[in-house]
This record gives sequence, structure tokens and C-alpha cells, in this order.
Amino acid sequence: GRKRLIAGNWKMNCQRAAALELASSVVELSQASENADLLICVPSIHLADIEKCLQDSQVKLGAQDAHWAESGAYTGETSVSMLEDYRVQYLLVGHSERREMFGDSDERVANKFEAALKNGIKPILCIGESLEQREQGVTLDVLKSQVQAVIDRVGIKAFENAAIAYEPIWAIGTGVTATPEQAQEVHEQLRHWLATHDQAIADGLQILYGGSMNAANAETLLAQPDIDGGLIGGASLKADDFMKIYSVA
Ligand code: 13P
Repeated sequence: GRKRLIAGNWKMNCQRAAALELASSVVELSQASENADLLICVPSIHLADIEKCLQDSQVKLGAQDAHWAESGAYTGETSVSMLEDYRVQYLLVGHSERREMFGDSDERVANKFEAALKNGIKPILCIGESLEQREQGVTLDVLKSQVQAVIDRVGIKAFENAAIAYEPIWAIGTGVTATPEQAQEVHEQLRHWLATHDQAIADGLQILYGGSMNAANAETLLAQPDIDGGLIGGASLKADDFMKIYSVA
């Protein structure tokens, strides 16, 4: 079967000392598992510190965003090749917070996805519908168009080196998680649709769930056949909670 991936998205949290403490606790509490990889996606300014902290551990390092250009006049931005220097293995692209607040259009998301792949970094494509879209019954259409925009750019085969995170916007940071049945239904439909592009890619692709996943609800979510892991915000800021999720993966 597919290997699980438990990924923390720290978002814009933790100053330097707290970031190091959290990363160290994750390293201390982590145990090698055949079933699941463990990943933390940290603020880019902490990458140097945390890269050192994760050395000789099984915990993988990820970033939350990057610019798609190699280099240039992009004040304030970080390139994917800069991330690569810090042995970043994963990059979140298209998180709903970036789409909503920072202008990450489908085109930009595709640019970032492509840049990550070119630098040997695995993109995690984040997709999700709003509550309004869910109520209108267009959830799957929204998700398909978000994924199709990337497929149009890089081709379906490129998803061999990528993952998808389904994060319903209404479940992010709200404490209202999708039910295991709701999430499974979406993951299954998405995988089924991806199989119409390429069966083998669809079978092998990790589709993570994100949105108020925590130590109490993770087990039933992760028990669903098409949920291959989690992208965890709030609960990844407490090492104990995060590792509880990892332990049931
Ligand atoms: P929460 O786990 O805090 O709901 O955040 C989910 C998320 O956006 C992860 O990327």
C-alpha cells in the first residue's frame, strides 16, 4: 500500500527559541516507522537552525512557500533553489491561506509546483473548497480545476514525485473537521478522477487530509482507505499532540 505521510504546517508561528524547542521535541519523540514518514514545514527563516536540529533524525524538512524564479529582483522572496541548500525535501504549494490572502492563483501555484520539481523538492499541492462551494455542490469541480491547472503545466506523470493535500477551507483552524466519511468520499472521487488520467499515478499518490486534524480525531480519519496522511496546523505546534497523530498513522 501507500506509505503514510504525517506533515506539520507550523504556519507563521514560533520565534527562534520556540521553533528549535518544538523541532527538538519532535525529534526526541519520533520513532522510525515503516508505515509513515514524518515532516515539519517550518517558517523559512528557521530552516538553517532546524536543518541542523533534524540531522541524523528521520524527521523530514519542508517549507511553506517559495518563489518560482531561480533568482532575481523579487524583494522579500525565497527561491526554491535556496530551500534546496537547506535540504528541504517538501514544499507546500497552493495553501488556501496563500490563495486567499497572497494572490496565489492557479497559475502561480503551477509555477511553484514546477519549480519545486526542477529542484528535486517534492511539492504538496494543497486544494480545497469553501463552505459556499460545498453547499452549492461544486466541491469536486473546484478540486479538479485546482489539480488540472497543475497537470496542464507539468503533466500527470510529474505527480509521481508529489503529493496532494485536501484541505476543506471550512475545516481549517475552525475545530470543525470533515467527518471521516466526508473526507473519504472526496479522496476516493479525486483518486478515481486522477485514474482517468493515469491509473498507476492515482494508485501511488499520497492524498493527505488537512483541516482541524488532532490527536482525538486522527485515528478514524487515517483509517479511511484513501486518506494517506495528514497536513496538520494547530495540533502540529504541540509535539505531544503531533506525535500522537503520527503514532496512529
Ligand atoms: P489546522 O490543523 O490548524 O486546522 O490547519 C490545517 C492546515 O491548514 C494545514 O495546512
